Amino acid sequence: MEGLALAAEARPSRLFVHTFGCQMNEYDSLRVQRLLAQDGYTLSSDPSEADVIFINTCSVREKAEQKVFSLLGRLRRFKQRKPSLVIVVGGCVAQQLGSALLERFPHVDLVVGTRALGSLPHLLRSLRGGTPRVAHLPEQDEEGWRELFGLTDTWRTDIVAPVTVMQGCDNFCTYCIVPYVRGRERSRPSGEILREVHLLVEKGAREVLLLGQNVNSYGRSLDEKLRFSDLLRMIARETDVARIRFTTSHPKDLTEDLVQCFSDIPQLCPHIHLPFQAGSDRVLERMNRRYTAQDYRRKVDLLRAACPEIGISADVMVGFPGETEEDFLATLDLIRDVRFDTLFSFRYSDRPFAAARLFPDKVSEAEKARRLTELQSLQAAITLEKNREEMGRVRPVLVESESKSKDGLMSGRTPQNRIVNFPGSPALKGRIVSVKITEAYAHSLKGRLLDEECSDTEAALPNRPFAGTELGDHGP
Ligand code: SF4
Repeated sequence: MEGLALAAEARPSRLFVHTFGCQMNEYDSLRVQRLLAQDGYTLSSDPSEADVIFINTCSVREKAEQKVFSLLGRLRRFKQRKPSLVIVVGGCVAQQLGSALLERFPHVDLVVGTRALGSLPHLLRSLRGGTPRVAHLPEQDEEGWRELFGLTDTWRTDIVAPVTVMQGCDNFCTYCIVPYVRGRERSRPSGEILREVHLLVEKGAREVLLLGQNVNSYGRSLDEKLRFSDLLRMIARETDVARIRFTTSHPKDLTEDLVQCFSDIPQLCPHIHLPFQAGSDRVLERMNRRYTAQDYRRKVDLLRAACPEIGISADVMVGFPGETEEDFLATLDLIRDVRFDTLFSFRYSDRPFAAARLFPDKVSEAEKARRLTELQSLQAAITLEKNREEMGRVRPVLVESESKSKDGLMSGRTPQNRIVNFPGSPALKGRIVSVKITEAYAHSLKGRLLDEECSDTEAALPNRPFAGTELGDHGP
């Protein structure tokens, strides 16, 4: 067993992990934990007990970056109390700032870029062998990539298990830092993904969430020339997974073959996260989004024609440089037209490297705040209205956990991705059950259990007595 400064001690080295940001970061952290487990590390939930603290960071918004700095500042006293402690910073802030992080936080030992996480065990061993503190930010790290994604085991398996299918982005939206910190698009071979899904299902996963900065462009970097729709069909055909979801999709890459999957693949949940960012063509052009508001509306029509009950969520931002009141009103119009089930809304902020940081005519913070409040109150009314439309319907719910409010309820999701809480036993975890919706709130539904065993396809059949009219922060 190897394990940094405490290798000589009898007990295994303890690893504490804190993850900021998106589901892809969560996934990367799980993979890092699994890699380090092979080096003898055990996971600790207490940073003061840890021998290594790994902070996986996000820089997609300024606020996320500030949270990272604040945590790193607080970790100084941990290092003072225990000088053998090793502090590692990985992810997007690490990639963005590199050795500047080592200078600003002298108690940080290792800075590991987004493409080098697979090399972390090796880097930790070198550090233990006396190599000085380092920022490791290679352009590519083939060996590390293979190490990280080639794992044939998982650290833990959840009922809903994430699976990264591609990373990076070639789109260069003018507000976005991702192509600079995550690098160019890169897809995983389908065989590797299928093996992982098989393994997760074998270990108890019922749903897989396929992750990528822009999953719609899956396959472009592969020799096997697969489209994302082909990958979805393969997973549905060749594995026993009950539910498949994916995130995130760029509207310009939402092709008809992918839309068709929503009518053809029973395991594919009728839900899509399709960020639109703005409803004004002038702003969309300045954002380099490469679609118009009308294109977006047409894609939504296509999706609803293929799958009338599809749930649609999106990201939108207010206060992009040069956004006028008229542009903002066009965004509100699009929200009214589409009637999103959920919307993640943000204020624009300048990001390093991103082209829009140099755009003039910045919108004031006060104006951004006013627009955000107005937009959020419009969407809150729509979400509540749509949630109320659910009342009286019967939905198949994949039970994931006890409800967060700890009120003895169980919690799960409908295929459209709505959270449903209902009285039930923890033994239902992992089952798809039939729930009649009785109450609707701003962010969730409440229901009554009707049937302890059903499937999404059974519940979706219109002639079933309980069939209703029913059936991921930043993104593309
Ligand atoms: S917003 Fe999405 S599509 Fe655009 S550059 Fe960023 S990651 Fe790529």
